[in-house]
Amino acid sequence: GAANPQMDIAFASADSPTKVIAVASGKGGVGKSSVTVNLAVALAQQGHSVGVLDADIWGYSIPRMLGVSGKPVAFEGMVMPLQAHGCKVISIGFFTDPDRSVIWRGPMLHRALQQFLGDVHWGELDFLLCDLPPGTGDIAISLAQMLPNADMVVVTTPQQAAQKVALRAGKATEQTGMKVAGVIENMATFTCPDCGSTHDVFGSGGGQELADALDTDLLGRIPIDPRLREGGDAGLPLVLSNPDVPASIAVKQVAEQI
Ligand code: ADP
Repeated sequence: GAANPQMDIAFASADSPTKVIAVASGKGGVGKSSVTVNLAVALAQQGHSVGVLDADIWGYSIPRMLGVSGKPVAFEGMVMPLQAHGCKVISIGFFTDPDRSVIWRGPMLHRALQQFLGDVHWGELDFLLCDLPPGTGDIAISLAQMLPNADMVVVTTPQQAAQKVALRAGKATEQTGMKVAGVIENMATFTCPDCGSTHDVFGSGGGQELADALDTDLLGRIPIDPRLREGGDAGLPLVLSNPDVPASIAVKQVAEQI
């Protein structure tokens, strides 16, 4: 399928019922993968059929965050995704030795992504969330070519510096033709569990500013919650372990809008 990047990818067709959402960020560490897994599980809880495609080839963390490991099996020439908390999941982490780093280059990344989209038995999905690597790299461009109907959601912290690099990732969609569906501000205000006072640890306003600059909506503000990190480390997303805390409620509100 080198000539036509959309060949054999059912999600690429204009009448595909699956909403494909690429989750992007300008830089690493802003919580893009944490947001992806919580959003995926929230969508599954709302009754949708959900797939998670971990396209963060070098820095993959989806398997750990969803508490899923193992080698996917092939069935009738297709790779079966693994299951986690009601979601179908595929990650490069399922195919590599965890102690060896992945040093693939552009064309191989493109091929891996093509296989994840075309050779995986996703079945009928309402949503396919793709966790992109940070920045505006090869993978985002490949994904945009393969899936022209995909929407991008950009995750940023409230911090000015993070917002500026996220703007570059969002603006890259103008070249690729992908639509920006909105911005999610993560690591927003922290509320002290002991005294109830709030702290803007990473500043404030970055999410709204980014949304304005990209001419899109701020879909939600997810507060800092140490339990969100603990959930990620334990493979049990916060929306499952603590469904009623503000961070989970914020994620669920985003899930209702996308
Ligand atoms: P990225 O995918 O952008 O590199 P991660 O999702 O890996 O970022 O998050 C980076 C770290 O921050 C992880 O340890 C994660 O658990 C933590 N984290 C992310 N969002 C929050 C949050 N809202 N509150 C507390 N910790 C968070």
